[in-house]
Amino acid sequence: MNGSHIKGSGMTSQRTRERMIERLGDKGIRDLRVLQAIRSVPRHCFLDEALSHRAYEDVSLPIAFNQTISQPYIVARMTELLCTALDGNAKILEIGTGCGYQTAVLAQLFRHIYSIERIGELLQRTQERLNTLKIMNVTTKCADGRYGWVQHGPFDGVIITAAAPIFPDWLLKQLAPEGVVILPEGEKTQNLCVYKRKGGELLRAELEPVNFVPLLEGVQR
Ligand code: SAH
Repeated sequence: MNGSHIKGSGMTSQRTRERMIERLGDKGIRDLRVLQAIRSVPRHCFLDEALSHRAYEDVSLPIAFNQTISQPYIVARMTELLCTALDGNAKILEIGTGCGYQTAVLAQLFRHIYSIERIGELLQRTQERLNTLKIMNVTTKCADGRYGWVQHGPFDGVIITAAAPIFPDWLLKQLAPEGVVILPEGEKTQNLCVYKRKGGELLRAELEPVNFVPLLEGVQR
């Protein structure tokens, strides 16, 4: 999947893409599966043409509907946390599909990704993009992801890509034994947190400060 058949891709040389992978390595991303997944997903295809020349900078960038595409380092970091805890057979729930970049990276590494986005039109464009990139192991729906996706649970991994003020307790019902949850927790100040279910216990670790858009109520058609 190099996205060369998609508009705007002429501006992004293989060299530019490789430099981003090197930078992720410098920032501490060690898992070669994650680096390979990031290498294989053409980030420029997830941006408007006017910004696609910046696709391989390690920064978050604006997309439609006042949303953002996540910074590659954060995508890599959250993906690495899931990869450390789970194998490729895992079923993942993602909340906050956005442009689908994180979704596409996860789809390289795990059996199936269920992804929820609250902005209908944004999701429609994302679904078209995933189809164009021939990413088939993703199922999306437009809904308020704060309630998860009961029909497809339990999930081995849950990743929330919008900030939740507190740990959403529905997750416990939809999380497999030994399941893991990665989320930005907090409001004005947020921290990347990992929860792991071990037997009857839920272990929490707080990792590093992050800056995500908030998890909002309801759906925008
Ligand atoms: N994962 C994306 C970034 C997502 S930005 C990437 O790879 O770039 C956060 C997304 O979460 C936005 O698209 C926002 O609309 C969505 N969102 C916010 N609250 C939500 C909710 N309650 N349910 C589902 N999606 C939500």
